[in-house]
Amino acid sequence: MPQTPHPAPRVLGIAIPSPLRRLFDYRPCGEAPSGGWQPGIRVRVPFGRRQLVGVVIECRNDSELALKDLKPIDACLDATPLPADWLWLCRFTARYYQHPLGDTLHQAMPVLLRQGRPLTARTRERWRLTAVGQAADAAELARAPRQAALLAMLHQHPHGLGTQAILAQSFTREQLRALVDKGLLSRLEEPATAHPRDSTGARLAEPAIPLNREQSVALAALHEGLDRYHPCLLEGVTGSGKTEVYLQLIEAVVGQGRQALVLVPEIGLTPQTLARFRQRFRVPVVALHSGLTDHERFDAWEAAASGRAPIVIGTRSAIFTPLARPGVIIVDEEHDGSFKQQDGLRYHARDLAVARAHHHAIPLLLGSATPSLESLSRARSGDWRHLTLTQRASRHAPARLELVDLRGRPRQGGLIPPVIETIRETLAAGHQVLVFINRRGFAPTLACHACGWLAECDHCDARMTLHRQPPLLACHHCDRRRVLPEACPKCASIDLRPLGSGTERTEETLAGLFPKVPVHRIDRDSTRRRDAFEQVLAELRRGEPCLLVGTQMLAKGHHLPHVTLVVVVNADAGLYASDFRALEQSAQLLIQVAGRAGRADHPGRVLVQTLHGDDPHLQTLAEQGYAALADQLLEERRAAGLPPFRFLALLRLESPREDAVSALGHQVAEALRQWLASRRLEVGCLGPVPAPMERRQNRYHAQLMLTSERRSRLHEAGAWLTAWLEASPEARRVRWSLDIDPQTL
Ligand code: ADP
Ligand code: ZN
Ligand code: ZN
Repeated sequence: MPQTPHPAPRVLGIAIPSPLRRLFDYRPCGEAPSGGWQPGIRVRVPFGRRQLVGVVIECRNDSELALKDLKPIDACLDATPLPADWLWLCRFTARYYQHPLGDTLHQAMPVLLRQGRPLTARTRERWRLTAVGQAADAAELARAPRQAALLAMLHQHPHGLGTQAILAQSFTREQLRALVDKGLLSRLEEPATAHPRDSTGARLAEPAIPLNREQSVALAALHEGLDRYHPCLLEGVTGSGKTEVYLQLIEAVVGQGRQALVLVPEIGLTPQTLARFRQRFRVPVVALHSGLTDHERFDAWEAAASGRAPIVIGTRSAIFTPLARPGVIIVDEEHDGSFKQQDGLRYHARDLAVARAHHHAIPLLLGSATPSLESLSRARSGDWRHLTLTQRASRHAPARLELVDLRGRPRQGGLIPPVIETIRETLAAGHQVLVFINRRGFAPTLACHACGWLAECDHCDARMTLHRQPPLLACHHCDRRRVLPEACPKCASIDLRPLGSGTERTEETLAGLFPKVPVHRIDRDSTRRRDAFEQVLAELRRGEPCLLVGTQMLAKGHHLPHVTLVVVVNADAGLYASDFRALEQSAQLLIQVAGRAGRADHPGRVLVQTLHGDDPHLQTLAEQGYAALADQLLEERRAAGLPPFRFLALLRLESPREDAVSALGHQVAEALRQWLASRRLEVGCLGPVPAPMERRQNRYHAQLMLTSERRSRLHEAGAWLTAWLEASPEARRVRWSLDIDPQTL
């Protein structure tokens, strides 16, 4: 809701990046911004001994403090406020996640804005021939051969060229100026992100693919709701052409002169994804991801805010991109865990997308082959429109999961003989094989065969992973490293052996079994170098038989047309985990991995090794697919009173001192229970209990869980809790945070 500027407020309520959930009052001073004081104007203020950039939230005439005691601001940084849609979203986020507004605003703006830079586009110089210049003949400049050459080069570039590009060809500024003086050339200054406009005015660079029947039905449904809040879940098997539906929906939105915001998982914003969008559209597509420099991020943000960028594609934090003319929000792989921020401001970008689409009254499209149970239940209840794609665009249906019993079979690098035989046959047929194993390193740990000692981290309740490249023990929770012991630290035996398999060991085993076939390993260790992953993908596209061993980095998004066999080394990790979402998440991962098989000309097979082949969940998934398992899980969640049927909030406490965590935990739980009872508020309170991994990085973790059938009740309780903790002296010695809608416990 746009605020009318306040002519001359005596007090500015300012949000400042601080852990306190309140505004700080200052006096305006100096000249008022040209558009008048209003929420969203950045100011520089003295704060303690520092100077900070804050954002004006309230313009008032009164304060709880005496006006004469208020400090004046140091400087006003904006003539007009930061974008109103962005400010709305930040205020919503702060309220919903019970996070300090000042920190929310700080997190949600690019670094350069945090530092006070004005929100105006950076510009660059471009040189373009005038009409006279275009008609001129280079021969007329025979006496100035370099100018003639420059003119000839510019003839090749009707949109003009940047200064850099020209100087790189050893032309000089003097030569440019000479052409300008002759009336042949003009100098333009334009935003750094400007895109040469296409003279034809066409939006598409390549024609859209004719849709199949299911895709057409989905697109037609989406077209019905272009001008209102219209939430849709597009549930489509891997390779069913969801992206093609997104592209054609975006085309329609951009055709109306509006903007599309596309969120993709961290792992999904690959050069191929971007290339696919950029190939299709002639209009600028700006990308927001972690690889950008501060300046590039600022440019992209500014281009979106000014409306110059019709298509914005980015990972989680891109939800905070302001849009001048929002037209649609699309969340691809909406179930993906990377949309939830796991520290600080613990927001879920998909849930904010829902709120934002609602606020703007625009369509929202969530796509996935394996939708989250939250989204599925809203689609099934009719709250959201449920669109489905069941057919793959290519000839072959996604492969069925074949469960392979591991019990009592010898393993080599985690693989049993019949699976190794199938790998051999697949390679002999000239195809590629993907071996999925969700542990990097050589082996999950090192064990002493004499006394049973296991390599454990000194700082965490966790075992250390054995690595061979280079050889060391590493804790994957705190990154602590240790040299390999030569003998058991407990009994001095030298019979130390790796326990279990990780990517390195499976890679080594496969390389030994298939010496003539290249083996590529893809995990966080092997892809530290930026282009390493891209190189492997390029190699795979050549289509020669090869083996690919990797973690979940491989599972998503990548189109691997020559892979016809997928092997899952062990499906059991998620089956009996304590976290109530573990089953949902491991089913999603299995289906995503399986979706890599048989995407082109040949059908695929998926072999899933397990010790629990008779597990009812695993059987449902293998025999009836994800939707059937989701039904089963939803019923279980309903019976257990878990999301999406009840809402959760988790208070997390941590400290290097175990007693401090436990004392505060009991104190806050007691106070909360009393308050809940006095208010007769139907909110369940469980705990405090130690977190699943109690000690991490030498800090102790405990948690208190709040549950309620009504979100509003939970928020009331959360607000009371944060206020209590802010006021409690004990809470100052313990780090605490409230996680609304936690994804992991
Ligand atoms: P998803 O996003 O559901 O995994 P994609 O949109 O990436 O699926 O489509 C998978 C493959 O099928 C891509 O190579 C795409 O170009 C192709 N494809 C999608 N729709 C069609 C169609 N209607 N006709 C032919 N090929 C299609
Ligand atoms: Zn020992
Ligand atoms: Zn550790």
